[in-house]
Amino acid sequence: MARKFFVGGNWKCNGTAEEVKKIVSTLNEGQVPPTDVVEVVVSPPFVFLPLVKNLLRPDFHVAAQNCWVKKGGAFTGEVSAEMLVNLDIPWVILGHSERRLILNETNEFVGEKVAYALSKGLKVIACVGETLEQRESGTTVEVVAAQTKAIAERVSNWADVVLAYEPVWAIGTGKVASPAQAQEVHFELRKWFHANISPEVAATIRIIYGGSVNGANSKELAAQPDVDGFLVGGASLKPEFIDIIKSAE
Ligand code: PEP
Repeated sequence: MARKFFVGGNWKCNGTAEEVKKIVSTLNEGQVPPTDVVEVVVSPPFVFLPLVKNLLRPDFHVAAQNCWVKKGGAFTGEVSAEMLVNLDIPWVILGHSERRLILNETNEFVGEKVAYALSKGLKVIACVGETLEQRESGTTVEVVAAQTKAIAERVSNWADVVLAYEPVWAIGTGKVASPAQAQEVHFELRKWFHANISPEVAATIRIIYGGSVNGANSKELAAQPDVDGFLVGGASLKPEFIDIIKSAE
């Protein structure tokens, strides 16, 4: 079964209401391949989710950038999976390296979050990736396998998961992984799914790349056999996001 190309835009903690409206109108005017070729999901900050959902073209969808690990309640500052479902937000990004590294989210905590979000009916973009130090010490595959295993121990429904491989050293640095470097890790992750989950999940799960993707490098990365799309940070706030979506063709 062919894996449909997936392009996510992670807007992170950026934008004013005016800027967000401008980004949405640029997206709404963009000519992109049809929905049977590419799935597009953009992820504004929580406070702008309803605004973006209301204004965004119907063939693009929205994602939250995080959600709480269990049912809501006395957890000041958190947003629950139930709230996202209540607002009809279909996707959530979990385990982004900025949360793992700055907010100390462990592999196990991310695994629990993914399991809870899925159990409430959300679809999840789950992020994994190694630091520069880990890459230089030769432990990249070990690191991303351990991050994936902590999710796999708690999850059985992989149909609603997109796995984003995002090497930390490539995020927001302008230092993109080469197509060969991305392909190598995506191939190893798929091999891991084959050996530890099932051949079917290995063949169908979308593994997307994130880390300084832009309009100039996306085509070559997209040509790699195990690269099924992108999670884009900085460039998702710019008109070149449309060019990145077009690399699906
Ligand atoms: C990200 O944070 O998910 C990301 C890939 O950022 P950037 O594209 O800016 O490197």
